[in-house]
Amino acid sequence: MQAEIRSENKKPETKRKFDVIIIGAGPAGYTASIYTSRAKRDTLIISGVLPGGQLMLTTEVENFPGFAKGILGPELMTAMREQAVRIGTTIIDDEVVNVDFRHKPFKILTYSEEYEADTVIIATGATPRKIGAKGEQEFSARGVSYCATCDGPFFKNQDIVVAGGGDSAMEEAIFLTKFANKVHVIHRKDILRASKVMQDRAFENKKIQFHWNTVIEEIKGNQKVTQITVKDTVANKIETLEVGGLFVAIGHEPNTKLFKGQIDLDDQGYIALKNHTHTNVEGVFAAGDVHDHRYRQAITAAAFGCMAAIDVDKYLSERKA
Ligand code: NAP
Repeated sequence: MQAEIRSENKKPETKRKFDVIIIGAGPAGYTASIYTSRAKRDTLIISGVLPGGQLMLTTEVENFPGFAKGILGPELMTAMREQAVRIGTTIIDDEVVNVDFRHKPFKILTYSEEYEADTVIIATGATPRKIGAKGEQEFSARGVSYCATCDGPFFKNQDIVVAGGGDSAMEEAIFLTKFANKVHVIHRKDILRASKVMQDRAFENKKIQFHWNTVIEEIKGNQKVTQITVKDTVANKIETLEVGGLFVAIGHEPNTKLFKGQIDLDDQGYIALKNHTHTNVEGVFAAGDVHDHRYRQAITAAAFGCMAAIDVDKYLSERKA
């Protein structure tokens, strides 16, 4: 893949060394770059394979403050990108293939170039696990969602499906009963992984129906989801549910493969922060879903980006002093 230089306000073709390199271009990465660029830190974002992150796969965003009528996910991310470029960030749409945080300046290798940085902000996010059922990709953002907080209100008075048996699935199912008529929880086992307290809350909720030992076979619809075919793997029985949507809540994979062995990760593979947004490597910071498996919202990722940028600026100032 060729590095595509998108910044309109610089000539970075020969520039390979930056005050800060931000890996990832979701709300955390863009917000961090807006802050570091405004602080006159020479900033490069290497955007990765999906510039804009998870919001590029959503439709309406109603819970990001400042947009009274809501905004489309891709529009929000395009606006963040334009803001970052206007303030002075250089953005390269390339993928990082290797990093070397053992020596300073840090080295970051993409498919086409090697870059150096005094500081790095890791903002690579997390990827929701996919069910792998037929129609899942086709109906993504057209009834198939990976975030109940984001999309739940669009399913008022509908019957919907939640897939999964962990805390997220229970939390999402309970949350979705505020809007939905009925919530079918589809779980592949006959026992939940969720904590006892979450299980009890879900069992008490009259709007939730559990389907045990059941897997999703196919998602069908026209413009949007209208039916989901599920299979009881014990009874070997297929059933078609007439529903308007599917919320997949089977966990996330933090995008940290690149950093294994160099940055401390927690037992689930998320970046383990040491002190605010600092990682175990001095000069390397992290922001957003790559370390936060609790909130996972665009606004919280953006806030973590801001925090990491302020920490970077402080770190660079202290090193010069
Ligand atoms: P999780 O605990 O890993 O649970 C994932 C669930 O999805 C499991 O029930 C698993 O089934 C199922 N699953 C995984 N892959 C699947 C597949 N390919 N097809 C069908 N089902 C699949 O993930 P999580 O619920 O997102 O939670 C992540 C962490 O955050 C956990 O530590 C959790 O406690 C925490 N969390 C806490 C709260 C809270 O306390 N309020 C809320 C959300 C998350 P099996 O059980 O069969 O493996």
